[in-house]
Amino acid sequence: MDTDPKRIVVIGAGFAGLWSALGAARKLDELRVPSDHIEVVVINGTPYHSIRVRNYEQPLDDTLVPLADVLDPAGVRHIPGTVRSIEPHNRRVGYDTDEAPAQWLEYDRLILAAGSALVRPAIPGLHEFTFDVDTFQGAARLHAHLLELCDQPPSPGRFTVVVVGAGLTGIELAAELPARLRSVAGEHQSDTIRVILADRSPRIGQAMGGAQPVIEEALVAQGIELLPGVSLDRVTCDSVQFAGGKLIDAGTVVWCGGMRASPLTAQFPVTLDPFGRVPVDAFLRVDNVPGVFAAGDCARLLIDGERPSVMSCQHGRPMGRFAGHNAVCDLLGLDMLPLGIDWYTTILDLGPWGAVYTEGWERRLASQGAAAKATKRTINCERIYPPRNGSRADLFAAAAPVVQAPPYTVRDAD
Ligand SMILES: Cc1cc2nc3c(=O)[nH]c(=O)nc-3n(C[C@H](O)[C@H](O)[C@H](O)COP(=O)(O)OP(=O)(O)OC[C@H]3O[C@@H](n4cnc5c(N)ncnc54)[C@H](O)[C@@H]3O)c2cc1C
Repeated sequence: MDTDPKRIVVIGAGFAGLWSALGAARKLDELRVPSDHIEVVVINGTPYHSIRVRNYEQPLDDTLVPLADVLDPAGVRHIPGTVRSIEPHNRRVGYDTDEAPAQWLEYDRLILAAGSALVRPAIPGLHEFTFDVDTFQGAARLHAHLLELCDQPPSPGRFTVVVVGAGLTGIELAAELPARLRSVAGEHQSDTIRVILADRSPRIGQAMGGAQPVIEEALVAQGIELLPGVSLDRVTCDSVQFAGGKLIDAGTVVWCGGMRASPLTAQFPVTLDPFGRVPVDAFLRVDNVPGVFAAGDCARLLIDGERPSVMSCQHGRPMGRFAGHNAVCDLLGLDMLPLGIDWYTTILDLGPWGAVYTEGWERRLASQGAAAKATKRTINCERIYPPRNGSRADLFAAAAPVVQAPPYTVRDAD
């Protein structure tokens, strides 16, 4: 056997990257391969695993998991750094750290799991004046701004928040905002609060199948104004304008206009999909790029053999577990495992009203209100977290290349 030290490099420690690294470490442990023979190294922009799906909530204190807590027990090295370039022909990645720019790390197998970021089109004022909940930092900035509203001089839109983009993120955020604004504005100013959810599509929640009427009902019941069929034209520090001239005084505008894969995907000689994702096969190997795997929002996998994976935590976590496992198997000449998931669910938080749970790609309504909310809390606060007790055995058990059952809920028909 070749005994030269080998290295598996993972870019990113989000849902896909963290589970890629743990999946690889688990398989090496199972095979009794010492870490001085094959090491697993993660390069991530921060020293944290961010539970990004919770960024519409407050408080966010519990959403940053220190990488040391979950990677050290598994024997995975982690570098806080930003990958700038990938050279697949030389099998190396270039990255910067705060201490030292322009470093290189060679790999034997690479897993690209650098995720996605909010798309920001060139709409006047969008960069300067909008907030977002795409990252922990973005969500913290929005929260700090809301807390300062009371200190601002009275103005027509002081307690008006316009959320632009009514995808899942925009809906979840809008549903939280009335209660958050009430706690900021206080009782005496609560009648000046407005939360408006705007979107291009003809109906809010258009793509949500059987959940669409539930979403409208829940938002309206919480006093949220729905503004479908509008296109954003311009944002200023105190207003938002839509095509056709509709102008709203608003002290806060939050942009929730969709995600695009990390620009690192463009470093490979492959055709990217419309979201900027690299195509991968059922083993998570990037098409025609030897030694490279991809997982999560960076990768487009036919998840059930027919439909493309969705940029989601739901798909990112299993993609990571299988990518890590397969990177080790590929390196050692062992059989790899194909990933296929034959179920799909959507569980959307609707604030204090509850939540809504759908099944299948056509989104059949399964449960709503308090029952769906209980499921959502279990997902956001337990299911998607890595074990945080420092146990190597627990981390490896959670990283096994298996497909979990759909989240449990008490069905409307039960
Ligand atoms: C508010 C909100 C709510 C959501 N709700 C849901 C939901 O209910 N269900 C669901 O399934 N999905 C949801 N999503 C989507 C989900 O968060 C993403 O699909 C998921 O985070 C993708 O995981 P990932 O690991 O591929 O990428 P990410 O979570 O984006 O992680 C990527 C990691 O890579 C790092 N990174 C990026 N570039 C570099 C680089 N150049 N060098 C080094 N490190 C880098 C980043 O710092 C980050 O740690 C939500 C998203 C948001 C914003």
